[in-house]
Amino acid sequence: MPTTTEYPTIKLFNTMARAVEVFTPIKRGQVGIYSCGPTVYHDVHIGNMRAFIFADILRRTFDYADYKVTQVMNITDVGHLTDDANDGEDKMIVAMRREGMDAWDIAKKYTDTFLKHCRLLNIHRPDYMPHATDHIPEQITMIKHLEEKGYTYKTSDGIYFDTSKLKDYGHLARLDIEGLKAGERVDMGEKRNITDFALWKFSPTDSKRDMEWASPWGVGFPGWHIECSAMAGRYLGDHFDIHTGGIDLIPVHHSNEIAQSECANDCRFVNYWMHTAFLNLKGGLKMSKSSGDFLTLDSIIARDIDPLAFRYLCLMCHYRMGMDFDWEGLKAAATGYRRLVDRVQTLARDVDIALVTLGGYAQEYIAKIDADLFDDLNTSKVLAHIWTLLDDSKLTSAEKSALVARYDAVLQLELLTHEKQEIVVPTEVQELIKAREEARKARDFNQADELRNKIVHLGYNLKDTNGKTEVIKL
Ligand SMILES: [Zn+2]
Repeated sequence: MPTTTEYPTIKLFNTMARAVEVFTPIKRGQVGIYSCGPTVYHDVHIGNMRAFIFADILRRTFDYADYKVTQVMNITDVGHLTDDANDGEDKMIVAMRREGMDAWDIAKKYTDTFLKHCRLLNIHRPDYMPHATDHIPEQITMIKHLEEKGYTYKTSDGIYFDTSKLKDYGHLARLDIEGLKAGERVDMGEKRNITDFALWKFSPTDSKRDMEWASPWGVGFPGWHIECSAMAGRYLGDHFDIHTGGIDLIPVHHSNEIAQSECANDCRFVNYWMHTAFLNLKGGLKMSKSSGDFLTLDSIIARDIDPLAFRYLCLMCHYRMGMDFDWEGLKAAATGYRRLVDRVQTLARDVDIALVTLGGYAQEYIAKIDADLFDDLNTSKVLAHIWTLLDDSKLTSAEKSALVARYDAVLQLELLTHEKQEIVVPTEVQELIKAREEARKARDFNQADELRNKIVHLGYNLKDTNGKTEVIKL
C-alpha cells in the first residue's frame, strides 16, 4: 500500500462507546470485518436480511474508499441452537422433525436459499464464508485454552464458561448483572451464574446425533457462541477492526464472544462493534406465518415485487433506526425505485461514463455525498442527493450519469443497468386479452369492456397506446 495514499475520514457508530467515532484501522489502508451470519435451520427472514444489507453497505463503503477489505461471514450450521437463555429444544432438531431430513441436508438447503437471496439483493459475497462444522478443531482448541486458564467448569451436560471470572462481563450490552441475579426465575440447572453459557455440549448417551464430534471432554458438539470467536480468530486474527450483527445479538451472543476471545487470547477482540436495528412489522404482519414460514425475500418475490425494491427501502432508512415494514410501504418504495431507474436510464442512454470528465460543480456534489456516506453510512441522504442532482440543471446529463454510477457502486441498486421485470401473464388472462382484441375488431365495445373488467379482476390492466396494447400488473 503506497504511503502517500490519502484515505478519507470515515465515522462509524461504535456500540461499545455508544458514540460515533472516527474509524482508525489497525493496519493502514486495510479493514477486517466479521459479520455474524445466518443460522441455517430455517429461512432467513427479511429482518435479518436488513442486517446483511447493512454489512454489505459497510464493506462496499470501504471498497469505495480504496481500503483492502477482508470480510468474514459465518454460516451457523451447528451449535447449541436453543434460544438465548440456553434452554428449550435445539432448533436444528426441531427442523429435522419438521422436514424429515437429516441435519446436514437441512443446513445445505437453507444455506443455498440464503445465498440465492444474497445474490438477488446484490450482497457481495464475503471473502470468507466458513461453516461452523468445518471449524470444530479450532473451537475445541479455544475451549482448551479457556479451560487451562480456569475459565470453565463441567456440568453433567457440558463444559460451561464461568462469567463471574470477568470483572467487566457484559460491558458491551451494559448488562446489569446484579439486576439479572435479582430478577432470576428460570431454572439455572447446574450453571453457577445466570450469564454462564455452554462452550461444549455432550451428546445424549441414549442416541446418536447427526452432527457430533469427539473432544477431550467427550462426544458432543460446540455451543453456538464459540464458533464466531474461533472463526473470527482463524480468518482475521485475535484482534481485528469491525464486528457487525443485529442489535438482538448484543446482550448474549456478542457479550459471550468478547468474553471467550479476550480471555483465550489475552488481548482486545474488536475495535468497533456495529449493530443494525430491527425491522418492525406493521399492520398485523408477523415475521413467522401460522404455517411456520418466515416472511422472506421469497414472500416479496411471490408478490411480484422487485427484490431490489426491498434493498432500496432498507437504504432509505438509517441502519440504526427501527424500520417499519408493511406491503404498502414496500410497494411505494418499489414505485419510487422504478421511477429512479427510469430517470437514470433515460438520461444515461447515450453516455459513455468512462469518458466523462466531472466539472467543479459536479465535484462539489462528490464532496457532499461522500461526507454523508462517510458519516456513519447515511444511505438515505446519499439517495436524497441522487434525486436532487438528477433535477439540477447545472449538471450535464453525462455528469449526472457519472455521479449516479459512482455511488451505485456502493448502493448496488443497478440504477444504470436494471432491466424492467418481465411480467408473466397467466394463460387465463392472455386468453381474455385475445378475446377482447377480437371484440374490439368486431366493434363490440360492450363485450370488450366486460372482458377488460374480468382482466382487472384478475389483477392486470391494459394500456392502449398507438395501436399497441401493453399489459400492466396491478
Ligand atoms: Zn456470531
